[in-house]
Amino acid sequence: VLRLFLAAARPLYAGARVVCPCCGGRFRAFVPYRIGGAHDSICPRCGSLRRTRLLLLYLRERTNLFQDALRVLHVAPEAGLQDLLRAVPTLDYTSIDLDSPIAMHAMDVTDLRYEDHRFDVILCSHVLEHVIDDRKAMREFFRVLRPGGWAIIQSPVRRDSGTTVEDPTVVSPRDRARLFGQPDHVRLYGRDYVERLADAGFMVTVDRYAEETDEDTLARHGLRRSMHAVYLCAKPSTTA
Ligand SMILES: [Zn+2]
Repeated sequence: VLRLFLAAARPLYAGARVVCPCCGGRFRAFVPYRIGGAHDSICPRCGSLRRTRLLLLYLRERTNLFQDALRVLHVAPEAGLQDLLRAVPTLDYTSIDLDSPIAMHAMDVTDLRYEDHRFDVILCSHVLEHVIDDRKAMREFFRVLRPGGWAIIQSPVRRDSGTTVEDPTVVSPRDRARLFGQPDHVRLYGRDYVERLADAGFMVTVDRYAEETDEDTLARHGLRRSMHAVYLCAKPSTTA
């Protein structure tokens, strides 16, 4: 449905003021879009959200993803990003999701059917806030990552709260929306999100990429300075 809507809207967005890093499309503007009560803007061609465009810029500028031969696991793949990464000849790319029709394999993040140390890179954006046993998922990511590998594990994090709000007895979509921000979220992370990732074994760098990026670059890609930090999670090369 979204794709049909975008196809219909596309002529209205003809232009070249903004560019989508995921599909390379140039437009007059991104399409205003409401998702889970928040205002976003999406690419008229590939449907990328702000956070996906930010992630791709980050991957290009601050990681080795496009330089080295790497085995990549993409969790809950965003369509535009998946198309782009699959076309990179140096990447051995796999995507998984519990039930997304575009993912290559159906899999539960708390029970990955991969051997230890299989991947060099894991990309996982806005998944763990939906997962009941998120600590298990984090441990699974750590397990299948090779020592020296890295993951980007993004979740909505409340910057004004130190503590994650979580209550397994809250199950109705309405209560979840009120307490956790969206009907299908099972918690609302606070700044202790970093400690949770560290508990799984990761060395976490909170990279305030959007805050450090110039206005022109942000505007050209439909991004905002106030966007979430990037959580870069490294697996130490030698584990004790
Ligand atoms: Zn796009």
